[in-house]
Amino acid sequence: MKRVYLDNSATTAVDRAVIETMLPYFDKAYGNASSFHSFGREAARALESARDQVATLIGAKPSEIYFTAGGTESDNIAILGIAYANRDKGNHIITSAIEHPAVLETCRHLEESGFKVTYLPVDIDGRVSLSDLRDAITEETILITIMHANNEIGTIQHVRDMGALARDRNIAFHTDAVQSIGKVPLDVEFSNIDLLSISSHKLHGPKGVGALYVREGTAITPVIFGGGHERGLRPSTENVPGIVGFGKACEIAHNRLDEDIEHMSSLRDKLIKGILDAIPKSVLNGPCSDRLCNNVNISFEAVEGEALILALDRVGIAASTGSACSSKKSTASHVLLATGLSEQMAYGSLRISLSRFTTEDDIGYVLEKLPPIVERLRSMSPLWKEE
Ligand SMILES: *Cc1c(COP(=O)(O)O)cnc(C)c1O
Repeated sequence: MKRVYLDNSATTAVDRAVIETMLPYFDKAYGNASSFHSFGREAARALESARDQVATLIGAKPSEIYFTAGGTESDNIAILGIAYANRDKGNHIITSAIEHPAVLETCRHLEESGFKVTYLPVDIDGRVSLSDLRDAITEETILITIMHANNEIGTIQHVRDMGALARDRNIAFHTDAVQSIGKVPLDVEFSNIDLLSISSHKLHGPKGVGALYVREGTAITPVIFGGGHERGLRPSTENVPGIVGFGKACEIAHNRLDEDIEHMSSLRDKLIKGILDAIPKSVLNGPCSDRLCNNVNISFEAVEGEALILALDRVGIAASTGSACSSKKSTASHVLLATGLSEQMAYGSLRISLSRFTTEDDIGYVLEKLPPIVERLRSMSPLWKEE
């Protein structure tokens, strides 16, 4: 059976070139990067060249890149580390209602230890308003953490303006850029960003690796303790093959950025138009402009998202409803609800996320299979009323 993978916001295929680059670091250059012999030096050199590759992709200095175990860990280290470092300055954090659980749950944890958190609302497109952000700032605010692009509905936030506002008030600005890196051009200098989270497996690198960018001079307290790896911010023997693969994935993303964006945007637009034209009572969730080039999120009236995913899976199409993390729980997506979508429509949502490897053929296959599946599910639904 044909298999079409369209769940690239959950994870991506590792690029063949990335795998090739990683291989020698498992069984030839397998030294510990902290060791003083040739094996160790070889590993240490590989780490530094990966650090350059990651830094180049976001316009940072290599010394501002800290390798971590992924996006979740980067978010945790950033938020907790800034909160603890600034405890005597204030106890207020500002974030948004549509963040990834890696940010939301870390903020909830801080609330339990006496921090105050403002969860800013979003508009129908999932956008945080700059004036809401400005109004939420108090004398106590020490951190603003707003994601660059949303993993469910693809909204790209205007982080540059938010960063400027934060800098003006001497507040640290963190952004979870896990979904946008490799799909949206981003320069940490230009965008006034102090801390930024990246994850390797969302950009065709291996899983379990990521990075945190920390602007030079930013006060941050470590939250993991051990040896002095990653300048004390993230101790633990570095995952050298993983980091080497992550670096390569960043290099490829950097070199192909324009081409990738053009390829994915054109397939995305074709898919959105094809679905909305073919299926009545379907609505696009998320914005029409400033939207991730690989994100399609559509709700179908009187259809259960989960039933839809199962039916698509039976014809070999991998997609998702809500985010991968919330998809095993039967709760409507907090992101869709925050945009004002009704609970029923939130349950009927389908997220299709593309990658640079998605083809015209894949999109054609979805456009062939999806409409009859929706029609069949509706014909069995007591909620469905045809006009
Ligand atoms: C996937 C994702 C994460 C978590 O990254 P991991 O590397 O899987 O821990 C964090 N934030 C966003 C927006 C994501 O999409």
